[in-house]
Amino acid sequence: MAQDFDGEAIGQSMTSQVMAPRSTRPTFLAMLLRPLLLATLSCLPACNAQRFFMTTAVGGLSDYFDHPSSAEETLDEVAPGVFTFQSRWERALIVQTPDGLVVTDTFNPTFSRALRSRLERDGLWQPVRTVIYSHHHLDHVGGAAVLEPAEVLAHADAPAHWAATKPRDLLPPTRLVRGDTTLHYGARRIDLVAIPHAHAETHFAILVDNSVLYAPDTIAPGVMLLGGLPSVPLAGYFADMQRLQGLDFEVFVASHFGYAPKDEFVRTVAMMRDLDAIGQGVIAEHRVDGGFRTDKSTLKRAFKDYYDRTHAKYGDWHGFDTHILGTFIRIYTADLLGDTAPVPSPGCNAVTFDGPRCTNSGHLHPVPKSP
Ligand SMILES: [Zn+2]
Repeated sequence: MAQDFDGEAIGQSMTSQVMAPRSTRPTFLAMLLRPLLLATLSCLPACNAQRFFMTTAVGGLSDYFDHPSSAEETLDEVAPGVFTFQSRWERALIVQTPDGLVVTDTFNPTFSRALRSRLERDGLWQPVRTVIYSHHHLDHVGGAAVLEPAEVLAHADAPAHWAATKPRDLLPPTRLVRGDTTLHYGARRIDLVAIPHAHAETHFAILVDNSVLYAPDTIAPGVMLLGGLPSVPLAGYFADMQRLQGLDFEVFVASHFGYAPKDEFVRTVAMMRDLDAIGQGVIAEHRVDGGFRTDKSTLKRAFKDYYDRTHAKYGDWHGFDTHILGTFIRIYTADLLGDTAPVPSPGCNAVTFDGPRCTNSGHLHPVPKSP
């Protein structure tokens, strides 16, 4: 068992608080001894250091979810007549239109009740014309009944998923769409931008008047994605993010955590690309006999290299310590499966999903500007 303790740097990282000020961090000696001491004390009598470190890592997930930005309920206007409401872990987009409110996503009844109460309290409540389900995942599609919408819109393939998963609290869609879809409410324009490779094949980003982009479950400002997400081929994820980046918008709103100007969207996608590129580089350096299915010590050295290089650049991003191991495993798995993303090179800053080739066009399928 002793040889497994050379992962102490990993275990220590899982226990640290990303958001804690640097000055509160323990001394080097304490950093070295504390996890060993805790491991010894906490797992007696059946001492199992691997179990301890993994348990610590899983427990660290709560730090990720309990981001300070999630502590208070907020309702902010991010563009004229376009609001974002955040309660705990979820964040929705609310658009005022001449036909009533358009809301995406509704998440669950608790969230929807909080949203409705807040809109009523602030004098912003109107009948809801449309609820849009951004994608079929169950954590996004509950609670719409609370809003009593006239219309519920979802991807045409979403019901097939729900037939298998039988979601609770789902208000069934009244209208199904497929591919890029434009909705008009008076002068208000809402584009459903199909991004089937980024997170779910039923997935839409929602673009309001070429001004506000709601990009659920794909990106959040200054945040590393949960457990090495996306859960899809990385090439597809980056192609869809490239597409969104090429759209005309000023503010992007994540479905979890915060919202930010477009510059932050670009910076966060660049971080994700860099994490992937560093991972591919580390794997290439440690590759043995043409493959990376290799021995334990090589894998450990590779992860230490990956941790050190990424920590030096992104150690202060929210979720780094919680998710850098998952991110490495995600890239490692992509290497085994052959679904790695092409790494952009100078002068070749975009990638397409249908092959490892680059294009300098950032506008793969641009959404036309509003007249
Ligand atoms: Zn999702």
